Order: sequence, then C-alpha cells, then structure tokens
Amino acid sequence: MKVTRIAAWQPECKGSPNDWRTTLGQILVEVELDNGICGLGVGGGGKAGIHLVDTVIKECMLNVHVDTPAEAHETMVSHTTFYGRKGLVPMAISGVDLAIWDAWAKSSHSSVYELLTDKPAPLHLPMYQTVFDDEEAMEAVSNGKQAVKLHVERFGDRPDPQAIRELVRMTRDRLGPDKSIMVDAFGKWNVNTTLKVADSIVEFNVDWIEEPVGPDRLNDYISLTEKCPIPIAAGEHEYLREGFLELARSKAVSVFQPDINWCGGLTTLIDIYQIAREHEIRVVPHRGSEPYCLTAIAALDDNPLAESARTWFTCIEGIAEYSSEGVKFNLLPGFGVRVIGNR
Ligand SMILES: [Mg+2]
Repeated sequence: MKVTRIAAWQPECKGSPNDWRTTLGQILVEVELDNGICGLGVGGGGKAGIHLVDTVIKECMLNVHVDTPAEAHETMVSHTTFYGRKGLVPMAISGVDLAIWDAWAKSSHSSVYELLTDKPAPLHLPMYQTVFDDEEAMEAVSNGKQAVKLHVERFGDRPDPQAIRELVRMTRDRLGPDKSIMVDAFGKWNVNTTLKVADSIVEFNVDWIEEPVGPDRLNDYISLTEKCPIPIAAGEHEYLREGFLELARSKAVSVFQPDINWCGGLTTLIDIYQIAREHEIRVVPHRGSEPYCLTAIAALDDNPLAESARTWFTCIEGIAEYSSEGVKFNLLPGFGVRVIGNR
C-alpha cells in the first residue's frame, strides 16, 4: 500500500481544559491509500502536531510503498528519531498510525478488532471511573463501574497521609470489599511522601498508586516499585516501544498505562502488550473506553479494564455508550469512528 494523501486538523471540543490538553491537544488525521480508501486517526500535539504531520511525516510517508501499518510506523519513527523520541512527535505519529490502521482494516472490509484477534468480540468491557470523593465513587459503582480511581491532586505536593487515608477508608466502607480502588497522585509527590501515604492506605486494598512522581524520575519509580506495598502505575506520559522497554527492564512500574493517541498509536500499543507479557506487567491504558483504545484492549487484553472517557471529547462519532454492564463494544469497519461536523 501507499499513502497518497494525509490531512491533519484540530477539532474544536467545547469544554476542553484551558491548558496544554487544548493548546497542544487532540488532532484528527485523515489518510487516503492508493486504493482510494480513507482512514481516520486521533493523535495529539495541537498546531505543533499538525506541523509535524505536514512536514516530516508527509516527507517520509507520501507515496512510499509499505506492506503493513507496522512498516509505516517504523518509517515514521526512524525518520524522526533524532528529535522525536518522546512527546509531540510520537503524539503526531499516533494519529497517522491509527488512521493507517483504520484504512488498512477498511480495505479488507474488516474491523481493526478482527485484524488483531480471532476471539469472539465482547459485547461490553468492564470499566473504571476517575472520581474525587466517596460520594462520586458510590455513584460510579451504582452506575455499573467495576472500579474507581480517587484523584488526590487537590491534597497538594506533600499531603497529610491521614487525610488521604480518611478518603480511601470512607470510599472502601461505602463500596464494600469487592470493587477495586486506585489512587492517582498526578506526578506531584516524592518517594517519601508516596511511602507514607501507601503505609496509611495499604489495609484498604488499593490496586495501584498512579504517577506518584514525575515521568522522568526513573530512579524514584524503581525505588518505589521495590519498596512500596501498593503496585506503582505509570505510562500515560511515556512514548514508543523503547520508553516502555526501559520502564520494564528497570522494574520501574507494575502497571503500564499507555495512551494509544499519544504513545505512538496502535502499533506501539501492540509492542507494549508484548513487553508487558514478557515482564509480567499489567496493562490498563489511559482513557481505555475511548474508541481507538477500546478496540485495542478488547482484542489484546485478556483481562481488560477500560478507563472512563473524556466528557468533552465530542468531535468524533464512535464514543462508546456505558450501561450497567460496562462500556459497549461495537464491531464496525476500521475503528468505527467518524468525524462530527466540519473541519
Ligand atoms: Mg492519570
């Protein structure tokens, strides 16, 4: 196949946060193959991501023969490796990679799910919701969520462990013993704080502590994974196969949380699942119930858990519906995603 056209643009999403998630936020990417079939992907990087697509990615991809989406991905990654191993470049590559997978699947009248696996498609996948207090946790569970993640950024960089203990205790009391509870520190703590908080909440059976420190603090992650009584999760701000391989080889985390629209796309996510299997790491992708990731985890994960989607991400059709049984999975051509409105 050859990609004969690539277009990238930034859709408006009313209510998107007034920070980098908008200014450097989601881009839509459309590719057309030489058989006339078009595919749609979602990546990141805002105007900078569009610039990358319009310059270096077009430079290496347009009218170049590749046999598979993986070969296209390798072409883009090797062409940009001197300046693009993390951050904006993989975010832009993600959009192109997903668009190519979408067109590739549609070319064989198939869903991406069917390209990845022979197992019967599930009707629903279990999901978890990010919440801020025990009240919201209760509501999420009443609405059918299998698990909740307590976001605790508001407690500050060096929180009082007792305050977080009280929140986790109340949540566990209300949810009972069977629902999973996780805690997200949003990269704000240090090793000492994390260990103190972990000691104070370990009795409440917490599945993971997410991003306890910033994404580049590899030695802190290694130290925490060795000493912390609660599994350490990270990866929504990690990129490409090599980034996850380094986390795995250095035993830095117990749970990977890649974002398919940022980390390098489906091709990278497939590699991440392979690395995770080899190193006995759990994978629970970031925003797993959004359409591209939902297809991937339904196919690749034997024990999927889909994170709730962004409520303001309204520029595409194909956002799955939730019910008391979980998030609904539809088997449609490609990823089953369409653009809403005009460019
Ligand atoms: Mg997070």
